[in-house]
Amino acid sequence: MDKKHLPQKRKPEWVPDNASRAFATHVIEGKETSNISSPVHQGKKHKSPVYHVDELFEGIRRGSRTHLSRAITLIESNSHRHFEQAQALVKLLLPYSDSSIRLAVTGFPGVGKSTFIETFGTWLIGQEHKVAVLAIDPSSTISKGSILGDKTRMEKLARAQNSFIRPSPTSGVLGGVARKTRETIIACEAAGYDIILIETVGVGQSEITVRSMVDFFLLIQIAGAGDELQGFKKGIMELADLILVNKADGDNQLKAENYAQELEHLVHYLQPITPGWQVHALACSAYTSLNIAAIWDSVSRGMQHAKSTGFFEQRRKLQLMEWFDTMLMDGLTHLFYSTPPIKTHYQSLKQAVLDGRIPATEAVQNILNLYKQ
Ligand code: GDP
Repeated sequence: MDKKHLPQKRKPEWVPDNASRAFATHVIEGKETSNISSPVHQGKKHKSPVYHVDELFEGIRRGSRTHLSRAITLIESNSHRHFEQAQALVKLLLPYSDSSIRLAVTGFPGVGKSTFIETFGTWLIGQEHKVAVLAIDPSSTISKGSILGDKTRMEKLARAQNSFIRPSPTSGVLGGVARKTRETIIACEAAGYDIILIETVGVGQSEITVRSMVDFFLLIQIAGAGDELQGFKKGIMELADLILVNKADGDNQLKAENYAQELEHLVHYLQPITPGWQVHALACSAYTSLNIAAIWDSVSRGMQHAKSTGFFEQRRKLQLMEWFDTMLMDGLTHLFYSTPPIKTHYQSLKQAVLDGRIPATEAVQNILNLYKQ
């Protein structure tokens, strides 16, 4: 057999340096069979991969997870050439998207988001749904993708035929990550996933960003963790369509149910984010599946409500407009700061303001004049 057709082999550390490819103890690398898609060709040694947009499009429409995975890698790429190809692909996929339910799953680290997604996602697949799990992780630049980064999580869901799990993009600021996630949602929908779960940590700006891309927002809490600790501010509760108190099992069940009841009283005083929709609080367990069916029932009723009032369509249109405006602002900011006179004078003018040599207003005028020239 021609050497180049031999399977790719990896050399374990204990194999002698001068061992040939035929050395019996070399390890043949397996083919990836997991549904957890991982970005490929990100190492420095790899050349930039070549993508064929039509091929990716057809593969995605056929429901091929490999093609979907490659398409997302293309969407997530920061290279200029890939950006153009990704946009061409997204444009092709766009008419086939929009038919899913987009759900946010948020909550402080440790409340059980991943475990919940594993249980809920597996249950949904049992109800004949196709489930894609994505993540938005604003801390990913530092932590290299802490959410869903650990691939041993969601093992059962990952093995299911009708699931697709994609860890958070590991580079870029929240704005960039959000664009990639929005386009990834489109790709997943075009591949036939009718439920898109988007996990995010319930701290900071990320849940506002995720709210702007979903139809329904699940906020997970636990009993006895302290309001402070859970980032449990009125603001976050006001984003939710349903609040869950997880870990309602064993000795903790009663405590969780009592806390859910307390929250149930509280939410009646909040302005619902979806007009006319009554937000509820439910105790649940990702371990015992307590109330998993009731959660889906609430989501379904929420969707029916939003669709019958026209708010579903209206919200998606609003989100589209927000997306457009955000990207325009990002583009303008980038364009502005990369203009040569701004690059040259920005720092010195800023320093002049800091030193009290000129007022800030005048410095801004000077910069804007430089830009207009
Ligand atoms: P995340 O950081 O929000 O994604 O939380 P994880 O899903 O990683 O869960 C954090 C810890 O809580 C893990 O040790 C889980 O096993 C545990 N956990 C998650 N869900 C439940 C539950 O329903 N009941 C109990 N008792 N523990 C849970």
